[in-house]
Amino acid sequence: MDSLTSSSSSSDGPLHIAFLPLMNPGNTIPAVDLARHLACRGVRSTVITTPSNAAVVASTVSSFAALGHPISLLTIPFPSSSLTGLPPHIDDLTAVPHDLFLPTVISLRHLAADLSALLSSLRPHALVSHALLPFSATVAADLGISRVIFQGDGAFSRVVFCSLGRYFPFPESFTVSSLPHPIQIYRDCLPEMLNSLPLLQSISEAEKISMGILMNTFRAMEPDYVDELKSRKPTWCFGPVSLLNPAMRGGSPEERDRILGFLDRQPTGSVVYVCFGSMCGFGAKQLEEIAKGLEASGRGFLWVVKKGLGWRPEEGFEERTKGRGLVVVGWTPQVEVLGHVAVGWFVTHCGWNSIQEAACAGKPMVTWPLGQDQHVNAEMVVEVMGAGVRMWEGPGKKDDDGAAVTAEEVAEIMGKVMGGDWEAAEKAKERATEYKETARAAVEEGGSTYEDLTRLIQEVDMRRKVVRKTEE
Ligand code: UDP
Repeated sequence: MDSLTSSSSSSDGPLHIAFLPLMNPGNTIPAVDLARHLACRGVRSTVITTPSNAAVVASTVSSFAALGHPISLLTIPFPSSSLTGLPPHIDDLTAVPHDLFLPTVISLRHLAADLSALLSSLRPHALVSHALLPFSATVAADLGISRVIFQGDGAFSRVVFCSLGRYFPFPESFTVSSLPHPIQIYRDCLPEMLNSLPLLQSISEAEKISMGILMNTFRAMEPDYVDELKSRKPTWCFGPVSLLNPAMRGGSPEERDRILGFLDRQPTGSVVYVCFGSMCGFGAKQLEEIAKGLEASGRGFLWVVKKGLGWRPEEGFEERTKGRGLVVVGWTPQVEVLGHVAVGWFVTHCGWNSIQEAACAGKPMVTWPLGQDQHVNAEMVVEVMGAGVRMWEGPGKKDDDGAAVTAEEVAEIMGKVMGGDWEAAEKAKERATEYKETARAAVEEGGSTYEDLTRLIQEVDMRRKVVRKTEE
């Protein structure tokens, strides 16, 4: 990791953009992918994050810098527990228990002083910072630096959330009917953040003083909604990032070989990949049900269990499913896994990156949303993209009593999607393959994402020139 050794003038040299992602892999990985892409196009890119979160992307950044690309990674300390009132071991968002997620995000405003000191010496021409870090807009504005909002989720969910005001106070369930794809919303499935009026207000204030929004999506995936947002505010799409600049995303090379080796031995389309992202907090009972369901299904599977859950399958499970199933306690190279011919379906928590990665690989999804924006993303997969089926119909299922989804349900859906005679699944399969090509086209020179990023670079450069002129 670089330490800060030199400062640069704001007007000379290459364009310089700093990035401050939210401190979890789901936001840091795409921010680094974007930074790497811009570095390839001659933009000096500096990623700023907290130390333990930096570990997720440190080797990706350093190996890219070693190839001569102008990219570096700098750290600022996670705000101390004496300021935040949070437990001292929390130093990134993956370590945060579900009920502390929102207070932790709000407490990140205590990063303002360190961020300001760092930006004063770096003097970038723009700061790209996550929408949930509104304090960064004020820090940047005070230093005369343009701030661009980094929107980690898609256009559809943003349009949906922006339409909710008229339904307040929310009934238990309601239909948002003003959209090209009307969707059913269940109050209990809305992100907790929507209940924090002060945070929403500061996000909205920050938006007013920001230059525009960088959206982690590509137009062909949700054209109605991308166009709608572009008509409201300067918006540039930068997805799908996994194609923008493919890279290893954590995990050891040995583990990668073991996982891809397993897939190499499976027939085409025979494996269901089951993964719930980097922050899933399932209890032991739900994990047991998944294990039983996968075993009972008799189908091929690759299942990732987050290491921090401290859970392992019961003795005998691996023996009984040997040859057709693999449980990875830790991390898979997900982009490569989804791209593997052996993978037929993806059971996903509907994290936004996972959805885009499935689209790039042309793989259909079984939606199993857990929280945050994931319930709306699941509707996007089924209703807007038409590239998936639901694990269950109706309101969200909560893991409160330890097993919201039963082994029977897991086994049943595995049989249905792999059986080849469920019309909804076959349609989803067909639709999913169509995204593979459109995703690739978006990032190629002349494609919608490539051109959006050209326009963003031009806009930041134009602002730099205006600042230079004013200074002269
Ligand atoms: N990921 C991975 N291997 C894993 C689990 C996750 O590479 O075993 C990556 C995945 O490819 C994606 C990110 O971590 O890029 C997770 O982001 P997403 O938005 O899907 O979910 P979140 O973790 O933010 O809930």
